[in-house]
Amino acid sequence: MKLSFYGGVHPKEHKELTCAKAVESLRKAPAQVTLSMSMHVGAPCAPVVQVGDQVTVGQKIAAPTGLGAPIHASVSGKVVAIEPRPSCGGGKMMAVVIENDFQDTFASELTPHPDYDALAPEEIIDIIKEAGITGMGGAGFPTHVKISSGIGKVDTLIVNAAECEPYLTSDHRLMLEEGEWIIKGVKILMKTFGLDKAYIGIEDNKPDAIEKMRALAEGGVEVVACRTRYPQGAEKQLIQRITGREVPPGGLPAHVGCAVFNASTAAAVYDAVAEGKPLTRRIVTLTGGALNEPKNVLVPFGTPIAHLIEEAGGFRETPDRVLVGGPMMGIAVYDLSACTIKGNNGILCMTRAEAAEHVDAAACIRCGRCVNVCPMHLTPVYMHLYTEKRMWDEAEAMNLMDCIECGSCNYICPARVPLVQSFRMAKFEIRTLAMKRKAEAEKEAKKA
Ligand code: SF4
Ligand code: SF4
Repeated sequence: MKLSFYGGVHPKEHKELTCAKAVESLRKAPAQVTLSMSMHVGAPCAPVVQVGDQVTVGQKIAAPTGLGAPIHASVSGKVVAIEPRPSCGGGKMMAVVIENDFQDTFASELTPHPDYDALAPEEIIDIIKEAGITGMGGAGFPTHVKISSGIGKVDTLIVNAAECEPYLTSDHRLMLEEGEWIIKGVKILMKTFGLDKAYIGIEDNKPDAIEKMRALAEGGVEVVACRTRYPQGAEKQLIQRITGREVPPGGLPAHVGCAVFNASTAAAVYDAVAEGKPLTRRIVTLTGGALNEPKNVLVPFGTPIAHLIEEAGGFRETPDRVLVGGPMMGIAVYDLSACTIKGNNGILCMTRAEAAEHVDAAACIRCGRCVNVCPMHLTPVYMHLYTEKRMWDEAEAMNLMDCIECGSCNYICPARVPLVQSFRMAKFEIRTLAMKRKAEAEKEAKKA
C-alpha cells in the first residue's frame, strides 16, 4: 500500500503573507452584492425573488433547476437588479443584485438543531441541501448530492485541510480559530454516512494547525500530517496518502470507498445543521505582493473583487495579474467588478516578479519535465500537442479528461507553456464533441 503519490512539485509557498493574521470582518461592508446564479457545478439556479423585493440575510433568493444548490442573500436590503453581470471566469452570468441596507437582518428558513444527534441521515441531508452547501475547496459540487450518492458505498470519510495551494491560508486560519466547528461538522458527516472513523489531512507546513486539530479531535476523528508537496490537497492524491487506495482513471473517490470534504465545507455543515445558518459567507485570503495589506477576511458572497482589494489597502504596485484562487489552479480575473462566489477562497494580486515564478509562454523544448511531475501519470506534453492541433479524439485517448488541473506541469515547465489553460479548453471541446455525437446518434436511431 503506497501512502504517497507520484509526481508533484514544490512551489514557493508565500503563506507567510497571511498565515499569522487572524480573520477580520470587513472594515466596510459592500454597498451592493451581486449573487451569481452559477456558484456551483451543475445547472445555474433560477431567481425566486423579484426586483424591488426586500430580503434578509439567509433568505433563499434562488433555487436549483437541476444539479445544484439554492443561493441565499448574503446581506439584507433590496433586490435592485436581476440581470447578467461579469463573472470571475470571464463573460457574464445571470445574477441577483442586492443593495445593502447595512442592517444585517438575519432570517433563515432553517431550524437550528443543537441536538443534531437525534436527526436521521435523510433529515441532515435535507438541511445541507436547503442551506445551499457546495464544496468550498473550489470544486463547488453540491454537498448533499455527494453525501446521498455515497451512502452505502463509502467506508472512509476524509476532510481535506491540506490547503496545498501557495499563498492561501483561509483553511489554516479556520482550523486555528474555529477548529471545533470543523470537528463537529465532521461528526455530523460521519453520522450521516453511518461511519465511526474519519481523517483530517493537513500538510506538515502547518504544525500549529495540526497541534490544534489533534487537541480538538475526538470520537473517531484522526488528524493525519501529510508531507508538503503540491498537489497534496487534490482529492485523489489525498485519498492515496491517507488510505493507500488509488482512484482509477476516470473514477471518483466513491469508487474506492472514499468521500472527501473540504474543511470549510465541514464547518458549513455544522453551521447549517446545529445553528440553522445557510451558507452566505466564507473566509477569503486577500494576498500577493501587489497588495498593501494582505489579510484573511470574512466575506459575504457577491462582494466585488475591487471592494476586497480596497479592503486590503489597495495596490502597492500595479499587479501583473489578479487571480481568484491560488497561483496553481486560480483563474485570472479580467474585470474587478466581478463578485465572489461560494468556491472563492482567495484573491491573489501578483507582482510581475511573483508571476514570473509561474507563467510566461514560449515554445515547448521537449524536456519531459511535465511528465515527471504529473500526479495523474499523464503526458502533458503530448496532450498539449494534440490540443494545439485540435485533435480531440487523440487528446482524449491520452486520458486528458483525467487531468485534475493541478498546474504542476505548468509550474515546472521551463518554457512556461500554458498547459492547464490548454487542457481546460480541450476538456470543453471534448465534452461538446461528445454531446454532439450523442445527439447525432439519437437522431439517426430515430430515423432507423
Ligand atoms: S496534466 Fe493535469 S494533472 Fe497532470 S500535472 Fe498537468 S495539470 Fe496536473
Ligand atoms: S515541461 Fe514544458 S517544455 Fe518540457 S516537455 Fe513539458 S511542455 Fe514541453
